[in-house]
Amino acid sequence: MSVFTGKEKLKLGFGLMRLPKLADGTIDVEQVKVMVDLFREAGGTYFDTAFAYPGSEEAIRAALVDRYPRDSYTLASKLIIQPDAKLTREEARRETEISLERTNAGYFDYYLVHAIQRGNWQKYEEYGIWDYVRELKERGLVKHYGFSFHGDPELLIELLTRHPDAEFVQLQINYADWENPGVMSRRNWEICREYGKPVVVMEPVKGGILADPIDTVKAIFDAENNGLSYASWALRFVAEKENLLAVLSGMSSVEQMKDNLSFMKDFQPLSDHEQEVIRKAQQAINEDKSIPCTACHYCTKGCPMGIPIPEIFTVENRKKGSPEFRTKREYVIVTQGRGKASDCIQCGQCEAACPQHLPIISLLEKCRVLE
Ligand code: SF4
Ligand code: SF4
Repeated sequence: MSVFTGKEKLKLGFGLMRLPKLADGTIDVEQVKVMVDLFREAGGTYFDTAFAYPGSEEAIRAALVDRYPRDSYTLASKLIIQPDAKLTREEARRETEISLERTNAGYFDYYLVHAIQRGNWQKYEEYGIWDYVRELKERGLVKHYGFSFHGDPELLIELLTRHPDAEFVQLQINYADWENPGVMSRRNWEICREYGKPVVVMEPVKGGILADPIDTVKAIFDAENNGLSYASWALRFVAEKENLLAVLSGMSSVEQMKDNLSFMKDFQPLSDHEQEVIRKAQQAINEDKSIPCTACHYCTKGCPMGIPIPEIFTVENRKKGSPEFRTKREYVIVTQGRGKASDCIQCGQCEAACPQHLPIISLLEKCRVLE
């Protein structure tokens, strides 16, 4: 059975990792309901949550599952190995049961082995997780299974050879990472095409970085004077690629939903001139020295020193052009009651977990000057 349902009128998928929050830190479910309604009205069907996204599975139950017929949308969720945890069959079963209970979806249209990379792929093998997801499909709890991937092309080939029954792959693809040697978006996408695996795109806006890019990139897009948002350049670059099941955008507000729908609903591929503009933006990013952290927080969960790694990197990235006293004050605020860059004991846990493959230990060493 194909992973395509035939109902995919809109390439855009609703990524549920960065949902809007209320002042108390909980998810703004009422706003999510409005976003879901707008998305559906525009023909959107693909929703992407995960066991590891706090509050996301419960929020999509309230905003979608409890309000619309189950066969009118597709829902994806993911199974993850938590840092230092053993994903035994029992633990995997518990995760799936919790995800099904939180969403009340009855089954998942798409179920993914989450965030596979060099540092964890063998654990998924060791714990028999591939047999486990196969079994979920046989039991009807999952319609299609695949994996989300943050590794190198050699590992992708290894996985597709070992698990030819995996039906699709979720890849990080965006214009900044297209040729980035740490991510290799282009090569990984080509491999999926060669192996006949449809691709779900994650991070097309690189965790929001490309929606508010560095000044040199902004200047390149602003010079076009066409009123298009920075995010629209990023999404259009990705959405015209072949072999895509969905392009996930992790939208955090009604405004972002409206903006994304404004150009994804009647999608127009990039013209030759626009492709050239993107090439200039890629070049400007290559010349930039900012730390390309997407603030996903995968690194912080297992840090024994409680170091707020992405927040420290944000302070470091913002220090250019800001007075020193302000940068130091921001650093004190983000590290209050938590570990500092200098507390790092170089255990390496964070680097193994980072989907962007950042050399976190050496970057933190540089950030010590903020103390
Ligand atoms: S290497 Fe440093 S920052 Fe990374 S997990 Fe270990 S202590 Fe934390
Ligand atoms: S350092 Fe890596 S794992 Fe940590 S938040 Fe940034 S991108 Fe995510």
